[in-house]
Amino acid sequence: MILPNRGSLKSFNFYLVENHQNLTLIDAGINHDACWDLLLQTLKTHNFSLGDISQIILTHSHEDHIGLIQRILDVHTVPIFAHKDAVYRLQREEEFFQKRIEFYSQLYDEMGCGAVGKRRVEETRKLGEAKKNEKIVGEIRTLGEDDYILGMRVIETPGHSPDHIVLLDEDRKVLFGGDHLIGHISSNALVEPDRDGNRRKTLIEYHSSLKKCLNYDFNKVYTGHGRTIHHPYELINSRLEGMDEKAEKIVSIIRSGVATASEIAQTFYRDKYEAEFSLVMSEIIGYLDYIEEKQLIYKTKKTGIWHYEV
Ligand SMILES: [Zn+2]
Repeated sequence: MILPNRGSLKSFNFYLVENHQNLTLIDAGINHDACWDLLLQTLKTHNFSLGDISQIILTHSHEDHIGLIQRILDVHTVPIFAHKDAVYRLQREEEFFQKRIEFYSQLYDEMGCGAVGKRRVEETRKLGEAKKNEKIVGEIRTLGEDDYILGMRVIETPGHSPDHIVLLDEDRKVLFGGDHLIGHISSNALVEPDRDGNRRKTLIEYHSSLKKCLNYDFNKVYTGHGRTIHHPYELINSRLEGMDEKAEKIVSIIRSGVATASEIAQTFYRDKYEAEFSLVMSEIIGYLDYIEEKQLIYKTKKTGIWHYEV
């Protein structure tokens, strides 16, 4: 599914898998008429109808992977399979989303983001209000590490999102990879709280999830965006190397005396800092965790704001 003006994601991919006359939808695109029409058209081309879809599996709960679920459920009831940390997100559990707002508010304060951070928290709050009714009303069943569904093995791959899973077809050596690995851009590991509101070290998790995939045998990845990947190990290794190169650049910025996450982000990303604030801060905070874990930097809190030093 390709829509114009959707930036670097290029396309939104979702997959229909046929199994004994039943169809499974893996991921569900964005909530857009063009996306819906394409699903209907694809079904028709292959002599199926919406009623033939018997289940939906989600690689993660981001909105560009769940968009058509409610439209399908409005036609007929099917179970949705997802990781347990996707459930309360899909159901838009109020208590969690409240905690999530408080989480970002405290985080941006501690990272020295000041007024820009406060503005972003306010936008997130308003967006949350507007999306309050976009909860998935339907049966959600959970999938976890080493479960099998459709004969495929479930592998937990937190990082890009805390609830991310991939599905491995061990016979065909094919991976349904969601946004864990994208060919034309490196996936981001968005900073997120756990259900209790504590920060997950998402970039460290992403790094381990990438390395974890090297232990499995596959030679093709069906991705959430862009083209199918044909040399996955090469790509994973180059992503891992890319992370270390970026980490080095951030260490050198800190070595030059730039101390807070907000200042580091502004030095590294310049104009993008305000334009793409959440993504940029996510990235920098993630790398600071990663570098700190390697004991290349340490931090101290001064007047409520973390300062990093080599
Ligand atoms: Zn995503």
